Amino acid sequence: ETKVTILGIPFDNITRKDFLNALYKRMNNRQKTFLVTANPEIVMYAHDNEDYYKLLLQADYIAPDGIGIVKASRTLGKPIKERVPGYELMLGLLEMADLEKRNVYFIGAEEEVIESTVSRVKKKWPNINIAGYHHGYFNHADPEMIEKVKATEPDLIFVAFGFPRQEKWISNYLSQASHGIAVGVGGSFDVLSG
Ligand code: UDP
Repeated sequence: ETKVTILGIPFDNITRKDFLNALYKRMNNRQKTFLVTANPEIVMYAHDNEDYYKLLLQADYIAPDGIGIVKASRTLGKPIKERVPGYELMLGLLEMADLEKRNVYFIGAEEEVIESTVSRVKKKWPNINIAGYHHGYFNHADPEMIEKVKATEPDLIFVAFGFPRQEKWISNYLSQASHGIAVGVGGSFDVLSG
């Protein structure tokens, strides 16, 4: 089965490699894409929050982030192929963006963290064009930030506000942008920044 539904969340039952291949194609075709990496906390939260649940259903892809999701799928008799950690998808997407010299925007985390994330990226993936970056402590309902990011025309946008904030912002962003792959990456900038 290509989809496995756990507590109403339709996970894509494909390998990390297949996720990245699909995203590579969508990037080259400039297809707007909402990617969610859902861990057990997200699944439980969506179970109790109708609005957030509906937001997740807007996603083009939902990746099974963590062994807890894989174990649940086995228990349900609908085994998921493998766990697809958000952090690893982010690294794969950065690799891809470097290869294809894409435009990438980074938004989220604390000022210091985002600064060192961006300098890490510049060193490790020098062919990425940094469209821009911003810390994550602003009013997330502010439409000006959407305008600001949109104006840089990113092919990829990493949003690190933690859930459910990041998915809400991405949904608003993508409703207004013409293209771009957007993904909520939780605490990943804190990890990448060293
Ligand atoms: N964060 C942010 N803005 C906020 C709240 C949090 O940018 O208003 C950042 C925070 O600095 C951290 C990340 O969001 O980098 C939250 O990571 P966490 O591990 O809590 O998210 P999860 O992985 O649980 O979704």
